[in-house]
Amino acid sequence: MTTTATTSHLLPVFARADVAFERGEGAWLFGTDGERYLDFTSGVAVNALGHAHPHLVAALQEQATKLWHMSNLFKSPDGERLAARLCEQSFADKVFFCNSGAEAMECAIKITRRYHAMKGHPERYRIITFEGAFHGRTLATLAATGAAKYLEGFGPPMDGFDQVPLGDVEAVKKAVGPGTAGILIEPLQGEGGVRAPDNSFFRALRQICDDNGLLLIFDEVQTGMGRTGELFAYKRVGVTPDVMSLAKALGGGFPMGACLATAEAAAAMTPGSHGSTFGGNPLAVAAANAVLDVMLKPGFFDHAKKMSLLLKQKLASVVDRHANVLSEVRGEGLLLGVKAVVPAGDLIAALRNEKLLTVAAGDNVVRFLPPLIVTEAELDEAVQRLERACVALSGKAKVEAAQ
Ligand SMILES: *Cc1c(COP(=O)(O)O)cnc(C)c1O
Repeated sequence: MTTTATTSHLLPVFARADVAFERGEGAWLFGTDGERYLDFTSGVAVNALGHAHPHLVAALQEQATKLWHMSNLFKSPDGERLAARLCEQSFADKVFFCNSGAEAMECAIKITRRYHAMKGHPERYRIITFEGAFHGRTLATLAATGAAKYLEGFGPPMDGFDQVPLGDVEAVKKAVGPGTAGILIEPLQGEGGVRAPDNSFFRALRQICDDNGLLLIFDEVQTGMGRTGELFAYKRVGVTPDVMSLAKALGGGFPMGACLATAEAAAAMTPGSHGSTFGGNPLAVAAANAVLDVMLKPGFFDHAKKMSLLLKQKLASVVDRHANVLSEVRGEGLLLGVKAVVPAGDLIAALRNEKLLTVAAGDNVVRFLPPLIVTEAELDEAVQRLERACVALSGKAKVEAAQ
């Protein structure tokens, strides 16, 4: 087959914007078009420390001269250290390392099923999930996600997931049966539109789990590693899960996932019951340890929380001034969303024209995901660009209305 400039050999599963980047620095990206962009996508909540953070660069450069990959046939001192640090900072006792969010969720699902099977109840394998959820693109995590648009054409969805409306305690209680193994929820839905029920709902879920011997699983792939202003969002919600998945920001841009669990929840996982070739390899572990070095410095989360408050206030004032374009600010920490009145895709394109990069979410929401190290001056810059995009979009709406 001949290759021309217009033929892409990449599987066309992404609707890519017509822009590419060659370099990044903090919250900024340098495009191949010679323009400088303010990056409020952070690689979809991955680059929590921005681009080319000096401590991360140094850690990876040093590791690259020693060992890239080691199989899990051998001991992993740096992996032990990373797992110990994650456990010290959380409810967990055991950690499994993998390479993505979907894999972290696969492990969480397997831990939950096996926990009951090893207690003599293999029939308890069903997991209650919520409308608007997103848990990944593997066949199991797609079934957990439950959205028809992602499942279409891929055969029968994997059995074992019962989806109920978000925030509906009675529906959860009704869905619990003799086959139920656990409840799976995101502390704050990212892809679903930056939506979260009240903390009272999470407390009710914890109670239902305790009353029925179920495991509570938090999908913190997006919310974890500081995105909502605490290292883990469950701390903000005030409810402790039994199992938690992490990924996106864990490696600061190096692909890495993790599944964390209490000793009790993980007790059924024995040699051979799960595995991964690449999971927790030396490069990934070096990146994640370096991310923790930075995040665990005193004041790191105070800064993220302060930036969150400022950005929320600034976004709210733009919403007030441009009610014909924007209707609402949502979210926690630096996982913020603005619900658009115009199509969210139009707003994202208008923002890209102003050299501000943002991410779409469900429910016609545009996500603002700056790196956690963003400065107040950068927030001001972003908000000015949003203001200009709103003016451009209102002008366009007026012209269309007059035609
Ligand atoms: C991104 C995401 C996933 C999937 O992560 P991948 O690394 O793309 O497999 C799972 N759950 C949540 C909440 C996510 O935001």
